Amino acid sequence: MSKPFDAIIIGAGQAGPSLAGRLTSAGMRVLVVERKLFGGTCVNTGCMPTKTLVASAYAAHLARRGADYGVVIDQPVSMDMKRAKERADTVSRNARTGLERWLDGLDGCTVVRGHARFTGPREIEVDGEAFTAPRIFINAGGRANIPDMPGIGEVDYMTNTSILALDAVPKHLVVIGGSYIGLEFAQMYRRFGAQVTVVEKGPRLIAREDEDVSEAVKDILEGEGISCRLNAECISFRAHAEGAEVGLECRAGAPRVVGSHVLLAIGRRPNTDDLGLDKTGIEVDERGYIKVDDGLSTNVEGVWALGDCNGRGAFTHTAYNDFEIVAANLLDGEKRKVSDRILGYALYIDPPLGRAGMSEAQARMTGRPLLVSKRPMTLVGRAVEKDETQGFMKVVVDAETQRILGAAILGTGGDEAIHGVLDIMNADVGYPTLKWAVPIHPTVSELIPTLLGGLKPALS
Ligand SMILES: Cc1cc2nc3c(=O)[nH]c(=O)nc-3n(C[C@H](O)[C@H](O)[C@H](O)COP(=O)(O)OP(=O)(O)OC[C@H]3O[C@@H](n4cnc5c(N)ncnc54)[C@H](O)[C@@H]3O)c2cc1C
Repeated sequence: MSKPFDAIIIGAGQAGPSLAGRLTSAGMRVLVVERKLFGGTCVNTGCMPTKTLVASAYAAHLARRGADYGVVIDQPVSMDMKRAKERADTVSRNARTGLERWLDGLDGCTVVRGHARFTGPREIEVDGEAFTAPRIFINAGGRANIPDMPGIGEVDYMTNTSILALDAVPKHLVVIGGSYIGLEFAQMYRRFGAQVTVVEKGPRLIAREDEDVSEAVKDILEGEGISCRLNAECISFRAHAEGAEVGLECRAGAPRVVGSHVLLAIGRRPNTDDLGLDKTGIEVDERGYIKVDDGLSTNVEGVWALGDCNGRGAFTHTAYNDFEIVAANLLDGEKRKVSDRILGYALYIDPPLGRAGMSEAQARMTGRPLLVSKRPMTLVGRAVEKDETQGFMKVVVDAETQRILGAAILGTGGDEAIHGVLDIMNADVGYPTLKWAVPIHPTVSELIPTLLGGLKPALS
């Protein structure tokens, strides 16, 4: 006999718990099932521990540069990795236990710890116990992708999860994958004192970004002594006395690199393969992401998919926005759509890359007449004062509608300053409004009106 609820939520990641809060407030009896760590990837193995470690890496970097600021610090600077790890563990643990305690005490909410599997479209099973509800919300998230590369089984590789257990600096960390997750770990460990090589299959880092952004990021990383091996078309692995030998078949440079540690950062895959979806008729795409409509409903009535498992976003804020959309549509009579979302995100190397909307390349593909402007961070007084002038800011505007289509701020404070642009895009007003704003001096945002003042027709 299945235990009935008004709603079932599978996964306590970045959408599920908030949804449980809203649904219980509306008087529903809600079941939340979590198989492992409350808070999911972001809290336990993603954003929170990595950004805590990025902060430790920044402190080490600044300490090394102490003399530039007139601060005398004994060199060479070294890391107490046990302390750095403890900081990251503490930040994660506090968030996780706080969330778990809140959910356990939430009126109308029952929390079950275990792995949920569908046994039918409205029914799940957890460790032999059956539960049913007319509404089921899947917030199952994702995990590191481990492609079947030659020799992968021969070496002790790490993922974003297992690398967090390190409490010593590796001698030589080889990062496979030159995208967001890989680059954050690469710079962090370089600043901790490791030799670091980034191995990327494609011809440039963070290939989704414009070429000038990829180039500038590569310069920043190489400037800190990170070796970037691009065009590594046939990556393979072999056990080695010092750790692992990674075959690259790069067009340039030595054909292999020997590292003490290997981190795989080659994308993510959704946790949908062990959900029993075959018992429901819920459709997934060829990569396993659950197909959803603009309101995040699956093809089976009464079942929604939120967060990373639906392939419509890969960030904490997109997972949370999925919750907001579903809750607003179900409980507030609204008609919110995922396609209305203007995407913003950041790459947390230092200096960070803040991004809003389209890249210049994407904007060009629309065929619209464009205006483009780009300014170096050397023009930002705040960056000069901080002696952190690497990077640039760039904006792309639709010449006819005057709407900003996208922007990139690669530079100190870029992850915060980009919000001025994101906000004006969300307000759906033309760029002159922002051009005439009076930003605070001295901030990074201060250069945005000047940037907009420099808009020129994009050369084809
Ligand atoms: C290294 C790294 C750094 C990142 N940094 C950032 C960042 O700086 N900013 C940002 O916005 N995003 C970042 N992300 C991405 C962010 O972590 C994810 O986008 C976000 O966590 C997705 O939330 P979610 O709720 O969809 O899934 P998750 O957070 O993955 O949560 C899913 C939950 O479901 C549970 N679950 C899965 N299957 C079942 C089942 N069958 N039964 C019961 N429970 C189940 C899991 O245990 C998990 O707790 C980062 C990711 C990584 C890996």
